[in-house]
Amino acid sequence: MKSSYGELKERAWRANMEIPRRGLAIYTFGNVSAFDAERAVFAIKPSGVAYESLTPAEMVVVDLEAKVVEGALRPSSDTKTHAVLYRAFAGVGGIAHTHSTYATAWAQARMPIPIYGTTHADHLAEDVPCTALMTAEAVGGDYEAETGTQIIDCFRTRDPHQTPMVLVAGHGPFAWGATADKAVYHAVVLEELARMAAITRTLDPDVGRLPEHLVRKHFERKHGKRAYYGQS
Ligand SMILES: [Zn+2]
Repeated sequence: MKSSYGELKERAWRANMEIPRRGLAIYTFGNVSAFDAERAVFAIKPSGVAYESLTPAEMVVVDLEAKVVEGALRPSSDTKTHAVLYRAFAGVGGIAHTHSTYATAWAQARMPIPIYGTTHADHLAEDVPCTALMTAEAVGGDYEAETGTQIIDCFRTRDPHQTPMVLVAGHGPFAWGATADKAVYHAVVLEELARMAAITRTLDPDVGRLPEHLVRKHFERKHGKRAYYGQS
């Protein structure tokens, strides 16, 4: 049967396959989705399918209420979190969730990742935020939707385009971007920042944050109005 979501599923599949390739997940851990804003649907990894055997046709298309629009398999158990984020963050075209080791370690320590160096400042101008730990009440309700709400709460005072990543306390990282590929890119960057920060803190537990003038310099030469990094 010909799918009218073929291109969207292909995009989501390609981005999912980047997850094991970049060493961000083992077995079935993690999931990536790709959003079609015009049709208000997204394609996401099916639940519990290992990356090695995943095919584009198996990607599940759901609407913003997380109801299946197309697909024979059950969508990722985190689908509702993705739906909540797409509804809240206009302009986001892809979301990646992993349990990558270092980012998850910071999430488990329930700590934001401090901005220690220019590698971090090249990508975001603040610490990687960490949500509050979920209450028993929230977990007992619609858990996956509440996870999304927890993230949105954390972004009430933040711009999700300036800071395209977060740690969910006790759980792991979520990252997003204008496309599914960009979301995975941010998940990879996040893991590297988390690894560098963990090592830095081990070497000097009292090391301070990178001074603000260096943070601004590095962030703005790449993302500011007068950016001059790269070739574009
Ligand atoms: Zn998870």
